[in-house]
Amino acid sequence: MGTNTGERIGILGGTFDPPHLGHLIVADQVLRALDLDRVLLVPANEPWQKVGIRAITAAEKRLTMTRDAVGDADGLAVSDIELRLGGPSYTSVTLDALAEKHPKTEWRIIVGADAAAGLDTWHNVEKLKTQADIVVVNRPGADFQPPTGWSWELVEIPAVNISGTGLRRRVSQNRSIRFLTPNPVIEHIESWGLYRGGP
Ligand code: ATP
Ligand code: MG
Repeated sequence: MGTNTGERIGILGGTFDPPHLGHLIVADQVLRALDLDRVLLVPANEPWQKVGIRAITAAEKRLTMTRDAVGDADGLAVSDIELRLGGPSYTSVTLDALAEKHPKTEWRIIVGADAAAGLDTWHNVEKLKTQADIVVVNRPGADFQPPTGWSWELVEIPAVNISGTGLRRRVSQNRSIRFLTPNPVIEHIESWGLYRGGP
């Protein structure tokens, strides 16, 4: 990433507990549909909207799984910025930090339709609206709602009915997750004994 080029970069933030093919398909489809220079998958350090609602896997493990899920996929990369920033992860703060290093970059925030419906609950939402445009992708079970007050666009992807919740549940029930997430992620889940206790 050169600091003097006006690159267009998509940010796919999430908990990635665990990462799965849905995340990779979303990232790749948006990358190519909008001809972005890159899509960054950004695991949250503390996903503050989920803390206290369920047990969250340690951030380092989620980051490792996300890196190994992406591998060397063309145009995709994983950023550890939210772990480096520490504390609760707020996209607005993350974008400030990214923009400081890459002032000419145009940022897009990529969200599934479920996350799009909650955009107004995000930290510093009025500022965030000035920092990046929104890209919404369809997701099974979530009705698409146009994000009001945002500059946004919809990218239609083949519906992928895979979720972190579903994977955690399957692991806890001893059911297969093969082909729902890349093999290196499955290996980490097994060797770390993740999700055995339930979703
Ligand atoms: P969980 O069930 O734990 O919430 P998740 O599958 O929703 O896990 P997240 O890390 O919460 O994964 O999602 C990060 C982002 O990716 C969100 O914007 C979410 O809407 C989007 N996303 C995840 N899976 C899909 C999918 N299958 N189709 C479309 N968007 C998705
Ligand atoms: Mg989610």
